[in-house]
Amino acid sequence: MSEDCIFCGIVAGDIPGRTVYEDEDVLAFLDANPLAPGHTLVIPKAHHERLNDMDDGLAGSVLGTLNALVPVVEDAVDAPATTVAFNNGPEAGQEVPHVHGHIVPRFEGDGGGPIHTVAG
Ligand code: IMP
Repeated sequence: MSEDCIFCGIVAGDIPGRTVYEDEDVLAFLDANPLAPGHTLVIPKAHHERLNDMDDGLAGSVLGTLNALVPVVEDAVDAPATTVAFNNGPEAGQEVPHVHGHIVPRFEGDGGGPIHTVAG
């Protein structure tokens, strides 16, 4: 837990979040400024800034949850595809320094490009 981390605040329940999935190690919740309906973030509950700060077990839990949620999110908003991405470091567009994977539903003709769209 990092005192001034917004995502740690969501894990702790101090900041409201719209939970999509939760287990002992991982939390998924809706993005507050969605790029598309159903835009979901998947995070480790423990505070780690970058992907490689996690041990393999935790990274596997985060990626496994991400993988399992992709079809759930697609079904929920009837999206035929998703952009799935991690911005890993500020120069890559990571604004919140707590590991998070984006699941962004994509639609035919939505005008977006590939991964750089997620970086905002
Ligand atoms: P990044 O640019 O990859 O770090 O993405 C950070 C994401 O966190 C952005 O898509 C924001 O909309 C999202 N975000 C920031 N604050 C909150 C919050 O309090 N709840 C949910 N999502 C948030």
